[in-house]
Amino acid sequence: MSSISTELRQAFLAADVRPTVQRYAVLHHLLRDGVHATAEEIFRAVNRQDPRASRATVYNSLKSLTRAGLVREVISEGKAARYDASLRPHHHFVCERCGQVEDIAWFELPAGKQALGARRVRSFEVVFRGVCEKCGGSQPRTGETT
Ligand SMILES: [Zn+2]
Ligand SMILES: [Zn+2]
Repeated sequence: MSSISTELRQAFLAADVRPTVQRYAVLHHLLRDGVHATAEEIFRAVNRQDPRASRATVYNSLKSLTRAGLVREVISEGKAARYDASLRPHHHFVCERCGQVEDIAWFELPAGKQALGARRVRSFEVVFRGVCEKCGGSQPRTGETT
């Protein structure tokens, strides 16, 4: 899919970050696979494609991407932090049984604005917690993939 490479190129440009091979690979993995991966999982995925990618380089790339706002730390829950590409705004659902993190389609919270007063908000996201469909969520639906 060439649209992803276009999106990635534009994101690097907009954030004014040099798109090194490793940074590109890290962001590409997070965006294309829609995963919420730990640093170790990202390293393994990138290393599988490019065996020359060392753990230190991948971890450093992840750090610079996070600093630049292209990647965000989603949830750690006392365990290893999970990372997500932050180019497309969305909310999250965390299953308290299996630990699965799912993307929830973006929606605004117009009612919340008043509560913030004069504070200037740069970004926000909602994290829902509960039981996912696989673990027996309230309305099991079939044939639905995301
Ligand atoms: Zn679950
Ligand atoms: Zn996500």
